Amino acid sequence: MQNHHTVLIIGGGTAGIMVASLMKRKDPQIGIAIIEPSDDHYYQAAWTLVGANTYDYDKTRRSMRSLIPDGVTWIQEYADKIDPQNKSVRTREGNKFTYEYLVVAPGLVMAPELVDGLTEAMDKGMVCSNYTDPNHTWEVLQKFQQGTALFTQPTTPIKCGGAPQKIMYLADDYFRKSGKRKNIDMVFATPGTVIFGVPEIKKTLLEVNDRKNINLRFGYNLVGVDAKEQIAWYTMAEHQRERNPVKVEIINDGDRKGIRYGMMHLAPPQAAPKFIRDSTLVHEDKWISVDSGTLQHTRYPNIFGLGDAAGLPTAKTGAAIRKQVPIVVENIRRLLKAQALSDNKYNGYSSCPLVTGYGKMVLAEFDYDNNFTPDPKLKQMLIFDSSKEHWRLWMLKKYILPYLYWNKMMKGIEV
Ligand SMILES: Cc1cc2nc3c(=O)[nH]c(=O)nc-3n(C[C@H](O)[C@H](O)[C@H](O)COP(=O)(O)OP(=O)(O)OC[C@H]3O[C@@H](n4cnc5c(N)ncnc54)[C@H](O)[C@@H]3O)c2cc1C
Repeated sequence: MQNHHTVLIIGGGTAGIMVASLMKRKDPQIGIAIIEPSDDHYYQAAWTLVGANTYDYDKTRRSMRSLIPDGVTWIQEYADKIDPQNKSVRTREGNKFTYEYLVVAPGLVMAPELVDGLTEAMDKGMVCSNYTDPNHTWEVLQKFQQGTALFTQPTTPIKCGGAPQKIMYLADDYFRKSGKRKNIDMVFATPGTVIFGVPEIKKTLLEVNDRKNINLRFGYNLVGVDAKEQIAWYTMAEHQRERNPVKVEIINDGDRKGIRYGMMHLAPPQAAPKFIRDSTLVHEDKWISVDSGTLQHTRYPNIFGLGDAAGLPTAKTGAAIRKQVPIVVENIRRLLKAQALSDNKYNGYSSCPLVTGYGKMVLAEFDYDNNFTPDPKLKQMLIFDSSKEHWRLWMLKKYILPYLYWNKMMKGIEV
């Protein structure tokens, strides 16, 4: 196998495949290789719907082979050590690959070990997560009959920050439709200070939670899970407060507060993969240190980082990657021609399709400053205010976005 590549990409997920496809489309002669160990690629955004039994898990998976663009070399190995000085990447399999430009996009990993007892509790019994096993979420929702349904998230950054809420709204809808809701108390415990950072979306979501009578608890830092006693343990932030109180069993233990749950859905803590955290590429938060506008590494000009592993102060989503990819591709193409970086800068755009029930959705689109920035194209779908619940937005989530993902974004066609 050839060991030197003009552009070497680590990771064949949303970001890696899109960069390779767009770059090949723009400049077919550039030599590109992707280091990616997995046989499969997942459209993770649909896992929210899988957890609520309205999307087939198998349809979220495609073979990696079918997505690697023609003319791009697939190195099916694990990247293990990045050596920026020598412009090389060593793999776990013992091979060394050199590059002129490196694109680092290995996504993130689940880190349940950061919460006491969570490794043992994950995806078992009444503890579920759409992040790891959405089919198990659906089993739990069906099995659960009465008591406290706890929805929670960790203090680390997570991908798609809205996903822990989306499944809660769908669960509420399912519990109502199946006649169980009157026997269930629903609680959302978050370390955050607000339900959503964008004021227009926050307003709608508070109305949704009030309408659904969901108990919101802010300032709850998840520190432990006792799967046997079914207790989630928290330390309290100073900003702790509550909205829509319901009957919940709270256990006080020193500076910890426990919520006894009948079922729990959570986003586990998340982190950059170990080989990234151990590399010289990260800043002190252990995410890849890149310029927030150019996505160029802050110390190594021939390295770019994007996607979930990048330390960017915006929400980690596929939608964000859609806007990051053209910046990375344009900048590398310019550097290859010995030109300065582009004036086009990534503005922190990210988007979160907040499903609020079966057939209902709000679309949060925003930038680094949490400005609400709805896509003007939504008007063509007769959606004039995407900060409000709309069935057309649900159609976008369930049918149009998966189509665009597989047929346009994965093929390097800008949408
Ligand atoms: C439940 C859930 C709901 C979501 N909902 C939405 C949504 O509604 N909208 C939205 O836009 N986004 C959503 N997302 C987030 C979105 O899926 C991610 O932000 C996006 O997939 C990240 O892309 P990435 O390329 O950075 O990482 P990934 O797509 O996760 O890909 C990373 C790739 O790197 C590979 N890799 C890992 N380690 C190595 C290594 N050592 N060497 C080489 N390769 C490696 C992996 O095998 C993987 O293929 C959701 C995610 C989840 C889990």
